[in-house]
Formats: sequence, structure tokens, C-alpha cells
Amino acid sequence: MANHKGFWLTEPSKPELSKLPTLPPKGITKQEALVEMEALGKRLEELLDLLYSAGQKGLLVVLQGMDTSGKDGTIRQILTHSNAQSLKICPFKVPTPLELSHDFLWRVHSQVPAKGNISVFNRSHYEDVLVVRVRNLVPEEKWSRRYDSINHFEELLANNDTIILKFFLHISKEEQKERLLEREQDVTKAWKLNVADWKERAYWDDYQEAYEAALGQCVSEKAPWIVVPSDKKWYRNLVVVHTIVESLERFEKEWLKELNRIGEIAKAELGQIPRE
Ligand code: ATP
Repeated sequence: MANHKGFWLTEPSKPELSKLPTLPPKGITKQEALVEMEALGKRLEELLDLLYSAGQKGLLVVLQGMDTSGKDGTIRQILTHSNAQSLKICPFKVPTPLELSHDFLWRVHSQVPAKGNISVFNRSHYEDVLVVRVRNLVPEEKWSRRYDSINHFEELLANNDTIILKFFLHISKEEQKERLLEREQDVTKAWKLNVADWKERAYWDDYQEAYEAALGQCVSEKAPWIVVPSDKKWYRNLVVVHTIVESLERFEKEWLKELNRIGEIAKAELGQIPRE
């Protein structure tokens, strides 16, 4: 299987998003990607089933990106290959008054996956150092302390059997403009039209800077960021699914062993029950 890795961040650094690609590498075509996706999708389905039945780890997938970067499309792709019972999609919108009356991680913590389950975050706790920072929704002294809180929170999750994968869907400013204009022209996409998206676009540079700070500071081996070239939807999907598959494969042997163990116990118990 070819390697569609995206750009991995596993330790604190100062990433420069403008230097990271938003387009697929040369040499891969959409046709090839779709063929590869077939096999990858099947593999993802198998591994998610295994994660569920072994019940040893939870999987947290965080999706972040500028408006129109394709969070919804990525979720649709993941959903195609998952057993809906064990997968939960968690959108994070403007916080409600109740949410705002708690600490910023309160609403997030309640949505993290139990062992055997998967949570896909459509936006996340990172909004509290992104839109909140860019739009000055709370004073700097408050949001600047959140990077540490996020690191502690993610460490807590990782130490409690959560596999964490955080994807930044990286699009160019030009591609965003095209997608916003496309939404205006296509009646089937008109429901997505949002004046706010154009308003936020005016803060493009500030958002990129806020993303660089978040990706650079809130990162570890156990809670990596993967910067995904996302101008082409087919390549974005390929990288995300490929990354999830590869990350789960590392546990496959362990999980199969666990299933075997559970099976042996069940057999032994059955052996003691008269079955006539
Ligand atoms: P799409 O990308 O498909 O248009 P969306 O994710 O933008 O969908 P919306 O309901 O349009 O969904 O937007 C959610 C809004 O909530 C975003 O503008 C986001 O910045 C905002 N938001 C999320 N979390 C917070 C937060 N903690 N504080 C303030 N705003 C937030």
C-alpha cells in the first residue's frame, strides 16, 4: 500500500502552514486514489469492528480546518466504512449559555469515546484557541492558558486508552474562495451558504497564525496533528482514511489476542453448562 501520510507533527514546533502543501503530491491521480480507497475502506471497516469487539481502546478523531475545508465530506467518508453503533459524530458549534457557564473543556469531555467506541469531532476544543483568539471572545490572559489545559486534557485521554488523531484539513485561500462561490451557484449547496464564512475569510491570516500556534503547542506523540493537503477532496479522504487505518493496525495483534482470550473464557464456561 502506498504511503499517503500528510505532514505529521508529534512534538512542539513552529509550523509554517504557508510552506506546507494543500495539493496532492505529483504522480498520484484521482483514478488511482479511488481504487486505493476501495481497499482502504474495507480495511478500515475491519479494524473499526475489531476496535469495537476487543473493547480495549477508544478512538478520537478531531477534524479542524478553515471554513469549507471539508470536515463534513471527511465525516461522510469515514461513516461509509463504519459500524454506526460504535461511532458518534460530535459537532461543536457556538457554545450555549450553559456551556459557557462551565470551563471550556466541559462540553468536550462528555463526548470523548468510551473503550471500543469512536468519536469524530467536527470542530473541537481547539475552537477555544482559534475563533476565540482571532475574534477576541475572551481576554488573552484567559485563552493563552488554554494551550496547557488542552495538553493536560489530551494527556489524560491518551493515558486512559484513547487513541487520538487530530487532522488539520489544509486548503489554500484560493480554493476556499472557489468553494464559497460554488455554494452560491449550486442550489443543492445553497443551504450551506453562510454570510459569516465570508466575514471570517477576512481574518484568514489571523486564523492561520492561530492554527500555527495551536498545532505547534498542543501536540505530542500520543496526540499528533496531521496536516492534510485538502484542496482535492479525493486526496484528503485518502490521507485521512490511510492514517486511521495505519494507526489502528498497530493494535491489531493485541486486539486479536484479546478476542481469542474472551473466546477461550466463553468456551470454558460453556463447557461447564449442561447443554442438552
Ligand atoms: P461548515 O464548515 O460545513 O460550514 P460549520 O462547522 O462551520 O459547518 P456552523 O454551524 O456554520 O458549522 O459553524 C459553527 C460555528 O461555531 C463556527 O463558526 C465556529 O467557529 C463556532 N464555534 C465553535 N466552537 C466555538 C467556541 N468555543 N466559541 C465560539 N465559537 C465557536
